[in-house]
Amino acid sequence: MSSILDNGIKYLPGVGPQREKIFREQLNINTFGDLLEYYPYKYMDRSRIYRISEITTEMPYVQIVGRILSFETFPMGAKKERIVAHFTDGESIMDLTWFNGGKYVRQSYVIGHPYVVFGKPTVFNGRYNIVQPDIDNAEEYNDSNTETSRKSYGMRPCYPLTEKAKKRGISWKVIEKLVRTLFDKLNEVEKLSAIKGFQFNPFKETLPLDVIERLHLIGRREALENIHFPTSTQSLERARIRLKFEELFFVQLNILRYASNRRKKYKGNIFSRIGNAFNTFYYDHLPFSLTEAQKRVVREIRKDVGSGRQMNRLLQGDVGSGKTLVALMAMLMAKDNGYQACMMAPTEILAEQHLQTIKDFLGDMPVRVELLTGIVKGKRREAVMERLVDGSVDILVGTHAIIEDNVRFKNLGIAVVDEQHRFGVAQRAKMWGKNTNPPHVLVMTATPIPRTLAMTLYGDLDVSVIDELPPGRKPIKTVHVFDSQLPSLYNKIHTQIMEGRQAYMVFPLIEESEKSDLKNLEQGYLSLCNVFPDLKLSKVHGKMKPSDKEIEMRKFTHGETQILVATTVIEVGVNVPNASVMVIFDSHRFGLSQLHQLRGRVGRGASQSYCILVSTNKLSKETMNRIDIMCDTNDGFRIAEADLKMRGPGDLEGTIQSGMAFDLKIADIARDGQLVQMARDEASRIIEQDPECCSSRYSMLWNRLAELRQTDINWSAIS
Ligand code: ADP
Ligand code: MG
Repeated sequence: MSSILDNGIKYLPGVGPQREKIFREQLNINTFGDLLEYYPYKYMDRSRIYRISEITTEMPYVQIVGRILSFETFPMGAKKERIVAHFTDGESIMDLTWFNGGKYVRQSYVIGHPYVVFGKPTVFNGRYNIVQPDIDNAEEYNDSNTETSRKSYGMRPCYPLTEKAKKRGISWKVIEKLVRTLFDKLNEVEKLSAIKGFQFNPFKETLPLDVIERLHLIGRREALENIHFPTSTQSLERARIRLKFEELFFVQLNILRYASNRRKKYKGNIFSRIGNAFNTFYYDHLPFSLTEAQKRVVREIRKDVGSGRQMNRLLQGDVGSGKTLVALMAMLMAKDNGYQACMMAPTEILAEQHLQTIKDFLGDMPVRVELLTGIVKGKRREAVMERLVDGSVDILVGTHAIIEDNVRFKNLGIAVVDEQHRFGVAQRAKMWGKNTNPPHVLVMTATPIPRTLAMTLYGDLDVSVIDELPPGRKPIKTVHVFDSQLPSLYNKIHTQIMEGRQAYMVFPLIEESEKSDLKNLEQGYLSLCNVFPDLKLSKVHGKMKPSDKEIEMRKFTHGETQILVATTVIEVGVNVPNASVMVIFDSHRFGLSQLHQLRGRVGRGASQSYCILVSTNKLSKETMNRIDIMCDTNDGFRIAEADLKMRGPGDLEGTIQSGMAFDLKIADIARDGQLVQMARDEASRIIEQDPECCSSRYSMLWNRLAELRQTDINWSAIS
């Protein structure tokens, strides 16, 4: 059903073709509804007037009433000019500055006329100055009796704007004014429709009444009014809670609805028995005993795969906690029940390493393990493909080569995805298509994701956690040093290596500055060769030919070289227990999770390991904070939480972007964990009452979901 909210934004007074274009291209506002839900990201208190003498540069914004004394123009290059208005509040003088639109400024503002000026104070030429100030007539300000002007000079909304939109004259004030116009229009339409005798409510409630009552939420109309024009901080807070909840609620409802459908649609492959492969491995081949956490997770998996419903499980475990072994045991369960298994890793190096690990673990057991990556080509590839189809391959290890369409299995029972955050949701979904009955899916990650986030990202994924490291590991010692301290550091590393250990030395390779980064790596490699003339060094980076990379890696894993100079290609999974030193150059350029992953490459053997974070000595407070956290703790969960708080969930890019399906406009899954939980609880309550999602009692919800899903991508892939 179309509503006035679907009207194109050009039908709003004040929006001409030019603005329409900017709105569409820059702000993604196409309709009345889009504008109504274009929420401010912050508010400014404009209730207070300052004297110029009170200003300090610490103030984010000030508001001053006064008069312009004179204008002055300063040429800047051939065409541009800077225009300055000298402005006084009667006591002192300050400057207002514009870098463009000088003509417009002179035409618009009159010398001697009272104005309210608003903006961020800076100091220039020894005088306070506001660049591009917000200016209103002061008479308007004095006339503070009407509702409108009280509101407009109380808490003022600040809307997210792109630079381009700003340059084209779209300011917070412009949006604010248009939102007011919109509210006026909607109210008017509502009144008119009431007169004409049909009920029409553009602020139609979207949440069930019982939910609103139970959670003491405010109504949608009140929330929308207050989010744009809050009358107090309390009313703003309530509006925020209501709108955030609504957003999260529909996300959860959608997830649970799909999950419920999925369960009905697919039966799981049943691995009913524990057989030879599993038992032989467990009793005769396992070189150590499982940690309690590993045992618990194996039991959880066992229960799932035997239950008749399809397993969808996320296995979280810090680096080095022994996830590979758990995955192998799950894959052996498949083998024992006549199914094939596969394990997908994000890089070739990792895939090869998994293959080796698995082969080493299995020893002479009659389990056929094969590799499928980009370098498996020609005859060898054909042979693998054939054996997959005839069922003689038990376990396939590989990269995303596995999910290519032409790769077919005879009977894939379980798919393991290692280090999942490297894979998009769509890729994972492809796994599903590999068998008529979708395989069980075990997704493993060393990036611990707080529960509420996992809930939103992965829908109905169950979560297992390995929260215990194998015994005998010594916590890694992490220190931070500046570039200038490198020489003495090299001495210590040399000592370690003389004792038989190996070292990683990592340089950043950030895509945007790839060229200069590669140069850094090459230079770093050469200078390290000079520093350690008596040692052998390997070098790997993602731009090398896979075969060369493999040769270099192999030299290091076999102990033929003592130092591995690398980019973050070694970030995930690489396992060389003898390596005890991790040096990270330019560590200030890495994110927390990345640093933690890298650090996880050491501390895998019996000897004390070290992680050395090298940086320049000019560090921002935030960077220093990151480094401090790294030095303070080895706990991946704490680090992930700090990372999430500092950088927001955007850091889990691939997953979030393809997984979320709804653009969150106001809620923040990193910070609104409690609301996510509440939304989840309410959504499950509704799905339980109406599992078919068709009861007329909740029809407004199912309709609303359909509306929301118009912008949605690939929902079926999420869970
Ligand atoms: P991750 O969870 O980071 O993938 P891995 O599976 O690579 O960890 O395991 C790290 C190391 O710990 C490997 O060398 C593995 O053989 C070893 N390991 C795994 N489980 C145990 C255990 N229960 N006892 C001792 N060592 C173990
Ligand atoms: Mg691993």
